[in-house]
Amino acid sequence: MSQNQKREITCIICPIGCRITIEPKLGLRWPDIETSFINLDDMYIHSGNKCYKGGQFAVTEMAAPVRTLTTTVRTIFPDKPVLPVKTNNDVPKEKIIKIIRELSGIMITEKIGIGETICANILGTGCDIIASSNLLKE
Ligand code: SF4
Repeated sequence: MSQNQKREITCIICPIGCRITIEPKLGLRWPDIETSFINLDDMYIHSGNKCYKGGQFAVTEMAAPVRTLTTTVRTIFPDKPVLPVKTNNDVPKEKIIKIIRELSGIMITEKIGIGETICANILGTGCDIIASSNLLKE
């Protein structure tokens, strides 16, 4: 999806799910925006968001969408064969599938607890995969 086209985006920050319309302004086009020192917030016009967070979400979604990934990783423990995990921060949306593939090759061998790191700096994103449950400790 081009960063230069008008878009309709559903905000996923809260359950209200506002429909936000967003489009570039000032006539600047990507990659001009990417290589300039202009604040991204000043580059887009948006409407339909009921709060500031929605505007921020829409701008990020246009420029470089990110997501927090929640999934599971296999364990060696027969009674608890998978452990819920998540990224400790947002990762580029475009890397989500690659991260899931990477995690499919990992097997947890220790009874780790919530917040403990399973994989540091996953695919060079600067984010870690951490346990999001104490399931293995129970
Ligand atoms: S714009 Fe604000 S109120 Fe609307 S869905 Fe997003 S976070 Fe919720």
